[in-house]
Amino acid sequence: MATPIIRQVRAHTVTGGGADYHDQDDGHWIDDRIATPMAKYPAYRDSRRDFGINVLGTLVVEIETDTGVTGFAVTTGGEPAAFIVERHLARFLEGRKVTEIEAIWDQMFNATLYYGRRGLVLNAISGVDLALWDLLGQVRQEPVHAMIGGAVRDEQVFYATGARPDLAKGMGFIGGKMAWRHIEAEGAQGIREEMEILGRMRDATGPDFWLMYDCWMSMSVDYATRVARAGHELGLKWVEECLPPDDFWGYAELRRRVPQGMLVTTGEHEATRWGFRMLLEMGCCDFIQPDVGWCGGLTELLKISAIADSHGKMVVPHGSSVYSYHFVMTRQNSPFAEFLMMAPKADEVVPMFSPMLENEPVPQNGRLHISALDRPGFGVTLAPDLKLNRPYTH
Ligand SMILES: [Mg+2]
Repeated sequence: MATPIIRQVRAHTVTGGGADYHDQDDGHWIDDRIATPMAKYPAYRDSRRDFGINVLGTLVVEIETDTGVTGFAVTTGGEPAAFIVERHLARFLEGRKVTEIEAIWDQMFNATLYYGRRGLVLNAISGVDLALWDLLGQVRQEPVHAMIGGAVRDEQVFYATGARPDLAKGMGFIGGKMAWRHIEAEGAQGIREEMEILGRMRDATGPDFWLMYDCWMSMSVDYATRVARAGHELGLKWVEECLPPDDFWGYAELRRRVPQGMLVTTGEHEATRWGFRMLLEMGCCDFIQPDVGWCGGLTELLKISAIADSHGKMVVPHGSSVYSYHFVMTRQNSPFAEFLMMAPKADEVVPMFSPMLENEPVPQNGRLHISALDRPGFGVTLAPDLKLNRPYTH
C-alpha cells in the first residue's frame, strides 16, 4: 500500500478552556490567587488572568492526507502559533509522506532557530508534531502508544493537581498537588498560612498520601528553601517549579539546600533535548516534568526521556491528557502521571481538555487502564459543536 502524502495543514484557534486550560470563567481554582512571577506587583496578585495568562488561547492543528485521512492535535499558542503553523511550518509537511516525522521535526526546528528554540514557536512545533503522530495512527489504525514501543504496564496511576487533595484521595489518586498562594514579601505569615492548609490536608489524608506544592516560577532560592523546610515537617513530597526556568544555577543551589528526602522538580516551561540536558547535567531537579504540547511534541519527548533515563531520572509529564498518557504508558521511567483537576472547585474528575475533545479518557478511581487508549492515533476527536476559527491560510 502506498504511503499517504500530506495534502494540507490547517491551524485553528479556540477560546474558552480546552488546551489553554487557564482560559476559564470566574471562580475557577486555577485562576484564583496563585503565586506567580508577576505577583510581586499588587495589581497582578489576585488572579493569574490579570496579567494575561489566558491571552493566547488554544491552537488546533489539523493535517489531511491526499487520501482524505485527517489527524489533529491541540495545544496552547492561539493565533500567533496559528500564523507560524500556516505561514512557516506547513511548507515542511505538504507533499511529504506521513511517515517522515523525524525529518519534518528537524526542518521545523532548524527553520525557526533564528526566532524560536522554545516558548511559542515550540508550542506550534509541538502541535504539528502531535497532529502528525495522530495522523500516522489514523493511517495505520494503531494507537500512538503501540507505535512508540508499546505499553510497559496495564494501567497508570495518577496524582491530582488542584485545590482539594483531601477530595482527590477519596477519588483514588495517589497524591495531591496544590498551588502555592503567597509571595516572599508576605514573609513568615504567608508561609504559616500555607502550612495551616497543608496541615489540614495532611490530617485529612493521613501520613502516606503524597502532598506537593506547585510554586509556578514565583520564588527566590531563599524563600523556596524556607518553604521546603517548613513543608518537610508535614511530609511535603516535592516543591515544583519554584524558580524562573532560566535560573539553572538557582535550581542546583535549591536542590542542595532542601531537607534530605524532599524532591525538587521542574521542567514544564522548558523545551527540547538541550533544555532538559541542561537541567539534568546541572543537577537542577530530582525528576523532570516536560509538557508534550510545549517541549517539542512527542518526537522530542522521546529524546528527552532517553536522556533522563541515562541520568537515572523519571519523566512525569505536565498535564496534557491523552498526549501524555500514550507516552507515559510506554516508559519505565514514567511510573505515574499528573491529572489536572479541571472542575472549578476541584471536586470531581472531568476531562482535562474539556470541552474540546470527545472520547477523552479520565482516570477511574485514580487509574487509567491501557484499554482506554486502544483507539487509533491519540484516540480522541474534536467536539462537533466546537467553534473553530482559522485566522490565517496559505
Ligand atoms: Mg506545575
